[in-house]
Parts: sequence; structure tokens; C-alpha cells
Amino acid sequence: MSLRTEIAVVGAGPVGLRTAWNLARHGFDVSVFERGSEIGSPVRCAGLVSSRVLDIVGRGDYVLSRITCAKIVSPSGITATIPSRESVFSIDRRAFDRFIAKKAADAGAEIFLRSPVKNIISSSLKVRDLEVRANYIIIAEGAEAVLSRKVGIVKKNTVLTGYEVLVTSDESNPSEVTVFLDQRLFPRFFGWAIPKGELLLVGGAGLLPGNALRSSVMEIAKRFGYRGVIGHYSGPIPTRPSLRVQRDNIFCVGDCAGQVKATTGGGIYMGLVFADALSEHIEEIHSGRSVRRAYIYRRPREIREIILDYKLWRWYSSLPNDSYDRLVYFLNENSDIIYRTVYDYHSTVLLHGMFTKGKIRIIKEVLLLLIALLNPFWR
Ligand SMILES: Cc1cc2nc3c(=O)[nH]c(=O)nc-3n(C[C@H](O)[C@H](O)[C@H](O)COP(=O)(O)OP(=O)(O)OC[C@H]3O[C@@H](n4cnc5c(N)ncnc54)[C@H](O)[C@@H]3O)c2cc1C
Repeated sequence: MSLRTEIAVVGAGPVGLRTAWNLARHGFDVSVFERGSEIGSPVRCAGLVSSRVLDIVGRGDYVLSRITCAKIVSPSGITATIPSRESVFSIDRRAFDRFIAKKAADAGAEIFLRSPVKNIISSSLKVRDLEVRANYIIIAEGAEAVLSRKVGIVKKNTVLTGYEVLVTSDESNPSEVTVFLDQRLFPRFFGWAIPKGELLLVGGAGLLPGNALRSSVMEIAKRFGYRGVIGHYSGPIPTRPSLRVQRDNIFCVGDCAGQVKATTGGGIYMGLVFADALSEHIEEIHSGRSVRRAYIYRRPREIREIILDYKLWRWYSSLPNDSYDRLVYFLNENSDIIYRTVYDYHSTVLLHGMFTKGKIRIIKEVLLLLIALLNPFWR
């Protein structure tokens, strides 16, 4: 059997769906192939997003609560409580994906569920026993990046494993998130607790085996006196952005191209931004204009940001636990640094970290970071 379409999208995550929605709205014939049997499932996300995300896709009943403060806990228990200047939301990720899927379908995109794409050869995709021919192929398959690597666009990435458990707890505050920095529990990353309505999502990520990560997360859950477990989730988090995102008429976007803020693993905002850039790019090529640069350079601030964020992650994730203690102590004394940091643009922390109130503030870690960032070979 065969099918002909103008645009074939692999993956019905938020990024694939956003690209499909954009292109269908502009009159393209779009088909989305999703291996799962439903949209938004299984959930592999903590569902914390800024209002920028809501501005891009529109507000819907996927929003669970507004977060007004973040508590950062160091390995030895020093805490810094930072009120949030921006609007940050805890969302129901499944409902969020379904919200975008409906927009894409209403715009005319056709979404095929239970349709794993097995292979891509030049302009055609193998979807079970179906051969799909397309003018443009968009791979938005998520962090595993199997096809993206197979077609030779992206290279192998450092991928962290994230694990989360949804629990009932009396100690959760619907407007507060907690972040746990501890190299013993979450080497090279961190743990978190995020309110989900009446429930609490406790999670963590790091470079460590699944069993060890699970026990680290349960250790955090115990600190919240959890009573019961509603569900477990796990998923990969990419770190390094790929500057190669295209081969001929095949494009990679979202997690598979490493379009995440490596410091936090947050990929929804950046993925949506680059989905918009890619849609504009395809429209332009299609209208016959000559387009030389890769679509990622349509968003120079964001591509710079994710590269810088990757460097930032490499720096902070290699700090020992006593540096985390010092850092959290420092943040507690200078909470304006995080308060003034722009949520989706973490590198702004550097400016505020070093220069505020007319004073230059250098702690050993900030100095090391600067040296690391100024090193052009460190990518
Ligand atoms: C534990 C964890 C917590 C996170 N927390 C946050 C957070 O709080 N905030 C935030 O912004 N981001 C967070 N993220 C990251 C966020 O989930 C991703 O950045 C986002 O989902 C990327 O969207 P995507 O569309 O690129 O990929 P995905 O959401 O992974 O979607 C890819 C889709 O492609 C499908 N697929 C894969 N291969 C094929 C194939 N061969 N054929 C057909 N379909 C295929 C998959 O089934 C999936 O539906 C978190 C990630 C993890 C793992």
C-alpha cells in the first residue's frame, strides 16, 4: 500500500504536532505518524513551562496551577527559597499534547496512530506495511533520535535518564516546586518535586543506572511523606544541541535535535520555537525562494542560548557537592540572581550572577564557569 503527502511528520509529540499545525494552517497536506496508540501517552515530562509556551499554543484546560516560588535544596540541606518573577505553570502534559493535536487536526493535518516509522529512504518512509512518499519529511521523534541518527543527520548525544513518580502527599504546596542538588543522588543533574493538582510529581535525572535513579527518587518522595504511588514514568533527556538538522528534504526538530535547555532538561519551549522556525523555512523553500542557512539560525537568540546552556550544564553538573552547598548558600544570600533570571533563557543568570547593584560578585564557581564558556574548543 502507498500514500502520497506533501509533509510527513514522524512523532506526535508537542514539536511534531506544532509543526504539523503550522504547515496545515498554511495549506500544506500534512500527515503525522505516531507509533503510540494515543496522543500524550506515556507521559515523560515534569510539565513545568513558562507563560511563553502558553502564548505560543494558546491557553487551555491543561494548566493545573501557577507556580510562585522555587525552593533549592543543597546536599547538606541548605535551602534557598526564590519567588518567581515570571509566570510559570505546572501543566498536565497529556492534556497539553492533546490540545495541540486538536489544533493540528482542526487545521487539516491527518494524524495516524499506531504507525511506527521503521525507515526513511530519500523521500519515502516505511510505516508498517505502508510506503509513504513525501516532499518534506520532518523527524520529531524525541530524544532517542533513532531515525535522526540512522539517516545521518544528528550524531550520538549524551542522553540522561529521567525517572518520575506521581504520589499522594499531604506535604505538597500547589504553588511551590522544590529542586534537589546532590551528586550522590542525581549525578550530573538534579531531583525535583512539582505539584500536580492534589498530587505531587517527584522525579530526578542523572547519569546513573535505572535502579539507582529510582531509589534516589523514592528517597526524595519519602522527604514529602508520600502515602501512595499513582504511577511511574521514565524518559530520556538530551543535552547537546545538534547544529546539523537537515539532509536534503529531511529535517530534525525538537528533542531529537537536542533542542532543550540542558541545564534543566526543559525542551517544550525551545522545541516549539524551532518548530515555528522550521515551518517558516519550509514555506519559504516551497515558495521557490533560495534558502541557504539551516532553519535553526532563524532564531539566533535561541540557538545561542541552547549552546550556552549546554556549556552551563557541563560546568555545573561537574561540581562537587560542597560547591553545591556554597552555591545554594550564595543564592540564598542573593536570591535576586535567580529571581531576575529569564525562565527560558537561563544564561541570563550569568549577568545577574556577576553584576548586580553595581558590584562585581565573583565566587570560585562563577569564575570557573567563565573560563569554561570562553574556551571556544569546549563544545
Ligand atoms: C523526566 C522528564 C521530565 C521533563 N520535564 C520537562 C519540563 O518540566 N518542562 C519541559 O519543557 N520539558 C520537560 N521535559 C522535556 C520534554 O518532555 C521534551 O523536551 C518534549 O517532550 C520534546 O518534544 P518532542 O515533540 O521533540 O518529543 P516527544 O515529546 O518525545 O515526542 C516524540 C514522539 O515521537 C514518537 N515516535 C518516536 N519514534 C517514532 C517512530 N519511529 N515512529 C512514529 N512515532 C515515533 C513518540 O512516541 C513520541 O510521541 C522532560 C523530559 C523528561 C524525560
